[in-house]
Amino acid sequence: MTATYELDEDDRVITETAAAFAAKRLAPFAREWDETKHFPVDVLREAAELGMAAVYCAEEVGGSGLRRIDAVRIFTELAAADPAIASFLSIHNMCAWMVDSYGTDAQRAHWIPRLASMQTVASYCLTEPGAGSDAAALSTRAVRDGDEYVLDGVKQFISGAGVSDLYLVMARTGAEGPRGISAFLIERDTPGLSFGVNEAKMGWSAQPTAQVILEGVRVPADALLGGPTAEGTGFGIAMNGLNGGRINIAACSLGGARTAYEQARGYVADRQAFGGALIDEPTIRFTLADMATALETSRLMLWRAAAALDAGAPDKVELCAMAKRYVTDACYDVADSALQLHGGYGYLREYGVEKILRDLRVHRILEGTNEIMRVVIGRAEATRARASA
Ligand SMILES: Cc1cc2nc3c(=O)[nH]c(=O)nc-3n(C[C@H](O)[C@H](O)[C@H](O)COP(=O)(O)OP(=O)(O)OC[C@H]3O[C@@H](n4cnc5c(N)ncnc54)[C@H](O)[C@@H]3O)c2cc1C
Repeated sequence: MTATYELDEDDRVITETAAAFAAKRLAPFAREWDETKHFPVDVLREAAELGMAAVYCAEEVGGSGLRRIDAVRIFTELAAADPAIASFLSIHNMCAWMVDSYGTDAQRAHWIPRLASMQTVASYCLTEPGAGSDAAALSTRAVRDGDEYVLDGVKQFISGAGVSDLYLVMARTGAEGPRGISAFLIERDTPGLSFGVNEAKMGWSAQPTAQVILEGVRVPADALLGGPTAEGTGFGIAMNGLNGGRINIAACSLGGARTAYEQARGYVADRQAFGGALIDEPTIRFTLADMATALETSRLMLWRAAAALDAGAPDKVELCAMAKRYVTDACYDVADSALQLHGGYGYLREYGVEKILRDLRVHRILEGTNEIMRVVIGRAEATRARASA
């Protein structure tokens, strides 16, 4: 299995389109949206017009029909302008892919065109107050009642909650454990569905995070993702969605860190101290060297994991987990070094680096914490050890 390290003409057009959009429609407004907590759904719809809302969904149902590696490059470019907005779009894409991959023909035909245009904005609802990393312990219930299901429970920390039009909710239809979980498509105006307050957060301020509360929510049986025989498949669907979600979020770390790095490099080249530019200090150059190396390593790991996902490689799950773990940690450190290289100015909002640092922090926590990534990688390593014993 090989990863591609060079961009061909098509790759370049895709990447440059995302970069140009990000520079024009995200970068100039990112700080303002952060400060005013404004979620620019209209701008997300503009990104959708360029094919960035259902990137790796099938063209025949209205998706862009691109690869995971294209998505990684797109999210890197968008996040170079605004990690908070890019990462929301990555979650929406994850939901669209889940519907495309596991939905019935009718569900795909109905939802994918709407998700691709972002006429319908989607949220992913797995986490609960009592079930985060141990998501298979979730307790939201969906009980069959004639031609309907009735859902009760609370989802915690849901990105886009209250604004999104469609909620992909993982709920228990059967016994305890992962095999008792099913996935449901629930529209915002369904009676019994409500939302908690928008959480005050360290970063990602330009997108809402809130509880999704389900109290006697009645949905028709065909709201079950995958159709009548799909009860019990929801946990697998949720986990498979996360493989791509993880590398997309990590790509958002890479984009943000790249911007912070470039800004810091320019700053130390200009900043005069001790009779010369800071960039002429050997220790400053060592810092830049380590940052540049971390960015390059991150890019290579992400492209490799994305290529493995595209190819359906047997080690795709571990490669995505490794990339998510490494890239989100390393890029957070790059952003932190970039802030440090700015001295006191780095701590000021005006310079924009502190926003990147705040936005990137949560990438180490969500889509599976970086400790859970080690659990995933360690499990695969233990299986290998037993197989070769
Ligand atoms: C801003 C934001 C947006 C989010 N958006 C969404 C969303 O859209 N949809 C959604 O479903 N969820 C979302 N989440 C939830 C996120 O995925 C969870 O917070 C995350 O999975 C961790 O769960 P937890 O917070 O319950 O922590 P816990 O699971 O309670 O973990 C606490 C600590 O213990 C560690 N830990 C847990 N188990 C182990 C173990 N076996 N070994 C070692 N260490 C372990 C964890 O790594 C962590 O450091 C979001 C969270 C935030 C903060």
